[in-house]
Amino acid sequence: MYHFPYCQLRFSFQVMELTPNVKYLHIGCDEVFQMGECSKCSQVPRDNLFLGHVSRVAKWVKRHYPAVTPIIWDDMLRHVLVSSIEEYHLHELVEPMVSENFLYYNELSLAD
Ligand SMILES: [Zn+2]
Repeated sequence: MYHFPYCQLRFSFQVMELTPNVKYLHIGCDEVFQMGECSKCSQVPRDNLFLGHVSRVAKWVKRHYPAVTPIIWDDMLRHVLVSSIEEYHLHELVEPMVSENFLYYNELSLAD
């Protein structure tokens, strides 16, 4: 059911080999608009697909590089329930990188 991003992991290996002793690895995960579109994934809630993906990638990073903390952009987490984040243990796996000066179109009315 889950389509694991092997190309992303191979790229991460290359980045880590070129930058030894780093403490953080930014794994992106921002602006994920195309997700859950195939017949199998469309049966899973989008938040679960996203949280499951981030969890798997972060666990992969920690398994191969225990001293490295994965970082993700915060935008996909802004609407997610804390209980869902805890369910996938993201609070133990990743550090969110918050962009204070960037609002998405659907958040503009909240900024007034
Ligand atoms: Zn799929």
